[in-house]
Amino acid sequence: MMKIGVLSLQGDFAEHISAIEKNGKTAIQVRTIAELKQCDFLIMPGGESTTIGKLLKSTGLDIEIQNRFRTGDLKIWGTCAGAILCALEVVTDNPVNHLSLADYTIVRNAYGNQLDSFEVSLEVANIKTECAFIRAPQITRLGQGFEVLATYNDNVIFAKKGNLIVSTCHTELYQNKEFYGCLLEGQFFGNFSNL
Ligand code: GLN
Repeated sequence: MMKIGVLSLQGDFAEHISAIEKNGKTAIQVRTIAELKQCDFLIMPGGESTTIGKLLKSTGLDIEIQNRFRTGDLKIWGTCAGAILCALEVVTDNPVNHLSLADYTIVRNAYGNQLDSFEVSLEVANIKTECAFIRAPQITRLGQGFEVLATYNDNVIFAKKGNLIVSTCHTELYQNKEFYGCLLEGQFFGNFSNL
């Protein structure tokens, strides 16, 4: 049976869990390797990528996520800080313990500081959703094989390749039932209806 986990080391994991629960599904809070082992799909939420990266290392979750993703055993949605952590190349002032899961380049805090945060309404893979850009990163290069699901001002803000979705904005804050329904029920990642 397919199960969703939300990496719950730091950041806004509670909003993802509540959005999932509004769709009548449950999510496992992932803080340990044992909890990750129960999941087939991991959401890596927004937060502070330097902090989450350190905690991934101290828990050993970094290696476990890398191994399971590389063998095709784990689907991942990395959003905001999560997208920074999944990237092969991170442009940053402070080092981030990132996982290099896929070939793209991402620039931290690319839209400015907290006061430059903003909200927009967008369509992601034909689903309308609000998006908040909060000290958001920007994807400046996508390697081969990515499908672009949404752009904003010519910037790629949602992209998918194989078992990985990356996004640079927060959609979980709006608890959008349709958006999460499509995500969970298969538009992005095949059939999750057994959850
Ligand atoms: N600025 C954060 C970082 O670099 C990411 C912000 C976010 O997740 N909304 O880690």
